[in-house]
Amino acid sequence: MDLPHKGILQSPALAQYVYETSVYPREHEQLKKLREATVNKYGNLAETAVPVDEGRFLSLLMKIMNPKRTLEIGVFTGYSLLSTALALPDDGLITAIDISREHYEVGLPCIKEAGLAHKINFIESPATPALDQLILNTTHQGEELFDFAFVDADKTSYKGYHEQIVKLVKVGGVIAYDNTLWFGFVAKEEAEVPERFRNDRNAILQLNKFLASDPRVDVAQISVGDGITLCRRIQ
Ligand code: SAM
Ligand code: CA
Repeated sequence: MDLPHKGILQSPALAQYVYETSVYPREHEQLKKLREATVNKYGNLAETAVPVDEGRFLSLLMKIMNPKRTLEIGVFTGYSLLSTALALPDDGLITAIDISREHYEVGLPCIKEAGLAHKINFIESPATPALDQLILNTTHQGEELFDFAFVDADKTSYKGYHEQIVKLVKVGGVIAYDNTLWFGFVAKEEAEVPERFRNDRNAILQLNKFLASDPRVDVAQISVGDGITLCRRIQ
């Protein structure tokens, strides 16, 4: 599937400049291998992974936050997952949920080679019931809440995930929603948006509007990759 150009850096040359200047020189060997394995296996579909500058952003954010327990919804082959795992403390744990294990297994050898498989609890499941189960675990079995959540799965479900994840992330913790600029289509008239992107665009528009006035979180729209909305839980 051909995807439109994704990212706030509208000129490919500018994106390349950023990648070559501050990303590739610091990209972990296994992240590079995972990226290459994804392209070999999936061709153009590899572009559904987070772009490399976003991986770097997530990694640095983890180093700043130093979280112990994190959540990822939407793993694909694991570029964002490995970027996060590389930055977590050694006793950190990522609960990673994806509806399919098949993609995850493409990147898994790189995660193992990086010595980080022990930081990941992969759950193969649609996210909604898996999150319900996690809510039960925290409310009835006294499991700890999460410090950070990265959401990068089906866009039409983000709003539902938000209602679940605010129960799972502790006050002061952060939820990051990916693709909240949706190829720039959020700022275009519906008629200008190709049909197959409209449902997701409308879901993202509703989410962005909702988050902007949700009193439970403080919000910042970050213009990296295809847009990340960072939400810090305040109540
Ligand atoms: N973060 C990933 C990366 O850096 O490579 C990219 C994730 S990709 C955009 C979206 C993923 O969400 C796919 O792997 C897909 O299987 C998963 N997904 C789609 N619908 C889902 C659902 N309802 N529950 C859980 N995962 C879902
Ligand atoms: Ca994404």
